[in-house]
Amino acid sequence: MTRRIRTRIAPSPTGFLHLGTARTALFSWAFARHHGGDFILRIEDTDVARSTQEAVDQIIAAMNWLQLDYDEGPFYQMQRLDRYREVIAGMLAAGTAYHCYCTPAELDAMREAQRARGEKPRYDGTWRPEPGKVLPAVPPDVPPVVRFRNPVDGDVTWADMVKGPITISNRELDDLIICRPDGTPTYNFCVVVDDWDMQISHVIRGDDHVNNTPRQINILRALGAELPQYGHVPMILGPDGDKLSKRHGAVSVMQYEEAGFLPEAMVNYLARLGWSHGDEELFDRAQLVSWFDGQHMARSAAQWDAAKLGWVNAHYLRRLDDGALAQLVADQLARRGIAATADGRLQQMCALFKDRCATAAELADWLGMYYVPVSPTADDLSAHVTDAVRPALRSLRDRLASIDWDKGTIAAAIKEALSAHALKMPQLATALRVLVCGRAQTPSIDAVLSLFTREDVLRRLQAV
Ligand code: GLU
Repeated sequence: MTRRIRTRIAPSPTGFLHLGTARTALFSWAFARHHGGDFILRIEDTDVARSTQEAVDQIIAAMNWLQLDYDEGPFYQMQRLDRYREVIAGMLAAGTAYHCYCTPAELDAMREAQRARGEKPRYDGTWRPEPGKVLPAVPPDVPPVVRFRNPVDGDVTWADMVKGPITISNRELDDLIICRPDGTPTYNFCVVVDDWDMQISHVIRGDDHVNNTPRQINILRALGAELPQYGHVPMILGPDGDKLSKRHGAVSVMQYEEAGFLPEAMVNYLARLGWSHGDEELFDRAQLVSWFDGQHMARSAAQWDAAKLGWVNAHYLRRLDDGALAQLVADQLARRGIAATADGRLQQMCALFKDRCATAAELADWLGMYYVPVSPTADDLSAHVTDAVRPALRSLRDRLASIDWDKGTIAAAIKEALSAHALKMPQLATALRVLVCGRAQTPSIDAVLSLFTREDVLRRLQAV
């Protein structure tokens, strides 16, 4: 009987959802969906000092935005402490874990002495029970830790879904502390109990966890648990080759939402960052799910490419219907303090400008001019609104006051002014752009003007 496919994402709520965690979540989600399995959200909040409810909320908001729907959870580790204690008690009884009464000072001295002898510092097994061994007398007043009795010989080997076979010698592994003197279980131990209880079949996570895996496998074996398969995904790197961090720009998923990116584009871009299906660059969620069988995750680290994300986003932006796009742009305008309704006019504006924009935010940067006064630069004014053009601007303004307000009639009025004043199109069009739009370049000026109100255009041409 094959095991039911169950994957999980297990973020620590110490901040926003990082792009790297989002990508791991996406892979775990897509893999579960591909196999008709389950995807689980688990909040690893045992670092009480750094975990916050606000971070939990942010993580869930980001998962929702990316539409990474989970079948179970969120489970909170802090609500499972009794269960961890129960498992620890069972291990103590079974002899797969033991109390260690070494004080921090003794452990420091132990490590010092090992270093002085040129050895790798490790726990020396003072309190590790062995057949026939007499343990030291239990000191009074030293609250013990609980250590896992790691096998001393042999290797731990697993077939990593991403990196291929990995083998670590047990000699490299210490007797891990699984419970602190104050009774709180430690990170690696909680992960093991959770993965066991939640019947996780595949653990896909960042390769910063590779060193934890042999320890977790040993504990799972000691518990008689079925092992999950592991896949360790390489880190995402910034353009300079360092691990992607705030230094490189936005690393929080929701910052991309704020910046006007589309969830479809993020999902597409993140999926391609460390996974491939032939040469496919643009694919939707359903295609991703149908292709994501756990193969073809990249062994080498992927580099964040903001330009490519922009290109992917532009693709999805263009496919959006104008009503939906107008709503996104209205939201972006609202963030800039500009009230705009996603009406037919805003939809026409979006249609006119979207080909030159990669995000809804860029569109809002363009379209703000339709709602609030513009301030042309002194340089643009002196370069383009010259004495040679002013008379034509004045006669055009007078004409615009009375014509029908549509693109074709505006275009005809502009042509009349050009021939009456013997000017070339770029001279008059650029002056109009600077005065009305506050910038020297726009799409076709008649189309751009037709989407302003007549009153706004006349007001902006008043002073010529
Ligand atoms: N809480 C860990 C992290 O945020 C994830 C651990 C895991 O996936 O096993 O990196």
